[in-house]
Amino acid sequence: PITIFWHRRDLRLNDNAGLYRALNSGHPVLPVFIFDKDILDALNAEDDARVNFIYDTITKLKAAYQKHGSDLLVFYDQAEHAIEQLIKQRKVTAVYTNHDYEPAANKRDDAVAKLLAEHSIDLKTFKDQVIFERDEVAKDDGKPYTVFTPYKNKWYQKLKPFYLKAYPTEKYLANLYQFKASPIPSLKEMGFTKSDAEFPGTAYEKFIADYAEKRDFPAVKGTSHIGLHLRFGTVSIRQLATNAFHATEKTWLNELIWREFYMMVLHHFPQTAAHAFKPDYDNIKWINNEEQFKAWCNGQTGYPMVDAGMRELNATGFMHNRVRMLTASFLTKHLLIDWRWGEAYFAQKLLDYEMASNVGGWQWAAGCGTDAAPYFRIFNPEAQMKKFDPKMEYIKKWVPEYADFSTYPKPIVNHAFARERCLKAFKEALS
Ligand code: FAD
Repeated sequence: PITIFWHRRDLRLNDNAGLYRALNSGHPVLPVFIFDKDILDALNAEDDARVNFIYDTITKLKAAYQKHGSDLLVFYDQAEHAIEQLIKQRKVTAVYTNHDYEPAANKRDDAVAKLLAEHSIDLKTFKDQVIFERDEVAKDDGKPYTVFTPYKNKWYQKLKPFYLKAYPTEKYLANLYQFKASPIPSLKEMGFTKSDAEFPGTAYEKFIADYAEKRDFPAVKGTSHIGLHLRFGTVSIRQLATNAFHATEKTWLNELIWREFYMMVLHHFPQTAAHAFKPDYDNIKWINNEEQFKAWCNGQTGYPMVDAGMRELNATGFMHNRVRMLTASFLTKHLLIDWRWGEAYFAQKLLDYEMASNVGGWQWAAGCGTDAAPYFRIFNPEAQMKKFDPKMEYIKKWVPEYADFSTYPKPIVNHAFARERCLKAFKEALS
């Protein structure tokens, strides 16, 4: 009999909680990855950069397993169906995998657990992608936090060296099942093409020390771009948090804690994936003007800092955090377009797309989230530009025609007018 280890958002061999436990299960471990049809078929870009990233990573992971005489079994299928085939073909004692916190993933895992239970096979799942999950950092009465700072304080209080310790998977790779799997289905078979996207590397250490000083200026490369690797588990959160914890400057570690805060929120309040955390905010009468939405998507609003952000996103799959806040605020407050439209657009485009952080970030900007900026605080795009791009370097890079009044569009909406309109719409919804 064998143990299955199912890789999902943990595409690495080293310091992998579930894989470590599987390797110590007493049975040889057969590693599996499923290109999930339910997820892939919903994507609309043939050259989706994230699919390409996963593909490259899986190719490397397979080679790494082969080096140890084992292999990676790769399916292109609906997840439950692939697991069903697997347990029909082999004598499986248990399936090991790491936790996922998104609503659709939970549904998938419940269905797989049920299927396995019918065959008396255990599904064993482990915490891997965060330091603390679910109820581990909670209020004294056991309820989840909905405000970041007290959550963060409790997070630090709970932290013991144990939580940062790496799982030494490398010591147990002799327990892998020795076999040869068929090749990975091609991108083409799955309906995708090769993208020419460039992926950021995994060097993050150099950004920790002066992060607080540099992180707010989009023209400076002052942040790590590690989000994509966190998303797919090509780096270990324990390693990142250990390095960040030992640095004197803790601002970067605090950002990793924001990530866990939002994952905890999504776990406890899965409805927030599609609804405002504060239910009254679902009553806002959005204008949802399609032309204006298109102009925002294409970086043609006539507000250079907003346009620069959207163009950076469209061209690279990345947008600086400061500008994510501004573009999100602009869409929801200046244009009165539903935050869900913006959330969906970011979800399509961001290499580091993470449902919990994206929904959290959008609801923060719209003022309707757990720990949100009050709705009456409305970013002034002009003032943001002066403060955070004083030499207009970011603008010059992404909106080079800005200085040319004949080609650059006029502001799509007047700031003072938009501000008043927003205050009125929000007040009406909340009264
Ligand atoms: P760094 O600044 O180097 O930070 C390191 C890591 O900490 C990030 O990779 C990320 O995992 C985490 N982190 C940093 N800031 C935040 C934050 N505010 N909230 C949660 N985690 C954070 N982040 C995502 O990972 N995926 C998203 O889909 C996403 N959508 C966002 C949408 C909006 C409207 C806003 C305002 C923010 C969003 N963020 C999202 C948070 C943040 O903008 C990005 O994490 C950050 O810009 C990524 O750049 P970096 O990897 O260089 O991060």
